[in-house]
Amino acid sequence: MILGNDPILLTPGPLTTSPATREAMLRDWGSWDAAFNRITQSLCTDLVGIVHGDDHYVCVPLQGSGTFAVEAALGTLVPRDGCVLVPNNGAYCARIVRILQRLRIDCVELPLREDEPVTAGALEQAFVREPRITHVAQVHLETSAGLLNPLDEIAALCKRHGKSLIVDAMSSFGALPIDLRAGGIDALVSASGKCLEGVPGMGFVIVKRSVLDASAGRSPSLALDLYDQYAYMKKTTQWRFTPPTHVVAALRCALDRFAAEGGQRARGARYARNCAALIDGMQALGFRTFLRADVQAPVIVTFHAPSDPKWNFADFFAAVRDAGYVLYPGKLTQVETFRVGCIGAIDANEMHNAVAAIGRTLERLNLRVQ
Ligand SMILES: *Cc1c(COP(=O)(O)O)cnc(C)c1O
Repeated sequence: MILGNDPILLTPGPLTTSPATREAMLRDWGSWDAAFNRITQSLCTDLVGIVHGDDHYVCVPLQGSGTFAVEAALGTLVPRDGCVLVPNNGAYCARIVRILQRLRIDCVELPLREDEPVTAGALEQAFVREPRITHVAQVHLETSAGLLNPLDEIAALCKRHGKSLIVDAMSSFGALPIDLRAGGIDALVSASGKCLEGVPGMGFVIVKRSVLDASAGRSPSLALDLYDQYAYMKKTTQWRFTPPTHVVAALRCALDRFAAEGGQRARGARYARNCAALIDGMQALGFRTFLRADVQAPVIVTFHAPSDPKWNFADFFAAVRDAGYVLYPGKLTQVETFRVGCIGAIDANEMHNAVAAIGRTLERLNLRVQ
């Protein structure tokens, strides 16, 4: 893939996009332009299709980064007297807890280690312990470590217990299989700039129509009111406030490329090849992954930092950046780590080259890995 001289972003978003997706932003659109509003409509239709949502689900797009859409979903869909269970195995789960606190919504945390996926058994125990729980807010792929939580099992359990499930699928949507037909999921949140390989700036919530319809007038926020956004768009075909026009145009192109690549399966397979190339190469350099292979999602990989006392992430980052690759700092509370993403418009070749650049950087900085 030809990417010019820009560094390759090995990060979970913003990430390296294709030249075609970037070129799609070279045109200005007016918000009254019917052609633009048809693009928005087509995005929504395609996004629902990716997760096999039928007529019972709608997609509500929202301006802003992914967190805006998470906050909009929680503030709009959870009644004030609801109680949300948050299985917590990382920073994005912790962010959901903070959002709920700001919204003054009752919440129960299920603390887990950062390398420990939630289990249906642990959720079920929490339901028994805390009968006031009405909702579960589940992060599908905890990007903090790259940890995969078992969404299908969680959805089946929520369905059986009559709990409403809201899923942060930010860094899994498009790459990992999610199927709304199995039931159990009321809402799914993601954004333009992750595995769909668009540019950042737009989130979206795929939500059961009946759940959204029941939420009119509930949001304490004007700008983050998902119901109002949906109702206005349905009535006028337009976005409620200034749309992120260039982001929408880029996502249209990115979704066309997604379909041409072969959809979720092909996207997931490419990321899995990237991830395998990355882990194999890094292990050959002496690095160890933080997660066990069976809970590692093929999106971002956390590596233990070198044990060398000279290790300093900022220096390492700058040197690898000079070699053309942008890494990501660790986001774990207990251990010193760094992260390397394997998503974006890149293939296993770029991963091999990135590993080679990391190897040269270790030599240049005279760093021992173990
Ligand atoms: C990226 C991400 C978000 C949203 O983060 P923003 O910085 O607001 O884009 C939320 N949850 C998860 C799991 C993520 O990976």
